[in-house]
Amino acid sequence: MSSVSDSAWERAPLNWPAVILFSLTTLGMLTVFPWYAWTHDFSTAAWVWFVVFMYGTGMSITGGYHRLWAHRAYQAHWSLKIVYMLLGAMSLQNSILIWASMHRIHHKEVDHRDRDPYSAERGLWFSHMGWMLRNYPSSALDYKNARDLMEDPIVMFQHQHYLGIALFMNIAVPALLGWAYGDVGGFLMLVGLLRLVLSQHFTFFINSLAHYWGRQPYTTENSARDNDVLALFTYGEGYHNYHHIFQWDYRNGIRWWQWDPTKWMIAGAARIGLAYNLKRVPEFVIRRQMVQRQLERAQEQLAKAQPEAQPGRLAALQTLLEQELKHYAEIASEWAKLQQEKLEAAKRQLAEQWENSEARARIRALEDSLHQQHRRLRLLSLQAAQAAA
Ligand SMILES: [Zn+2]
Ligand SMILES: [Zn+2]
Repeated sequence: MSSVSDSAWERAPLNWPAVILFSLTTLGMLTVFPWYAWTHDFSTAAWVWFVVFMYGTGMSITGGYHRLWAHRAYQAHWSLKIVYMLLGAMSLQNSILIWASMHRIHHKEVDHRDRDPYSAERGLWFSHMGWMLRNYPSSALDYKNARDLMEDPIVMFQHQHYLGIALFMNIAVPALLGWAYGDVGGFLMLVGLLRLVLSQHFTFFINSLAHYWGRQPYTTENSARDNDVLALFTYGEGYHNYHHIFQWDYRNGIRWWQWDPTKWMIAGAARIGLAYNLKRVPEFVIRRQMVQRQLERAQEQLAKAQPEAQPGRLAALQTLLEQELKHYAEIASEWAKLQQEKLEAAKRQLAEQWENSEARARIRALEDSLHQQHRRLRLLSLQAAQAAA
């Protein structure tokens, strides 16, 4: 698909600082790093600090830049914000202000070819790194959507002194640590270079692979996917289909078995008073979204089925689906009634009592009904798919 603006895209000037940075680090990884590894032994301390900074810098992007600043999914103590600010700069992914402002556009315009700064519509390479190598129109800076961040002194301090902080964190910190352990070269190679390149690509995967590879249990309205394998590399941000529909939740992997170290770090920080006002989407709302998606799927599959092949079977599935739709409407109206009651209780300042009343049990029962319905619908979709085959 080509549009009038495509020629402007092709002529977009190179973004030299990014081109030089990525060329130097990639070249270093392909030449200096293997030579050094071949001719020297890395100290154990260098490996330990490599892991510490790998997680520290990666989760300052996912927990700080992303969930705290871009989405305001929780609030943090200034001391935690300073750690995020320093280690985030060490990731070399631009200042918090620029990163968060662009990310808010990504959510608002997701997949739009001309407006999403890392649109998946422009291909895997573009969404991974290509978008940074030229000054594309979609990356034009405008902080109108980040006025709240401009009032945060830590954000603005980093923005004004970004280059100095980034250089200090990337070169001086590994060198000083290396000097303390007597392995300056090893620290520069592992904590400096290898950590930088790996953690950059791991976080870039969230814009590229997490929009291509995986399942869509909540919505197909955008390209974002849930992917357990990707979650392992992206500090828990592999649950991107969930994230795009419930972006204000401080969690991305909502189930206990889903790998989301960023969520665990934030919850841990909350326990010691460094994070507060953690936002969570109510379980009912999450399950309702999953059932809605299953209902759509079942309808899509049934529409694809060939009526002449098995007319009786198809009619039975159709009836089942209608029953499920009716059941779903009942659950939704019961939930609305409960929400109304909750509102009235709040007005009479009885919210706490209401939370402890049998209303809680009723909500749990509704969540359970949705869970059962989700299972039945999955089966129904499968049967409809067989009828379509
Ligand atoms: Zn995304
Ligand atoms: Zn996001």
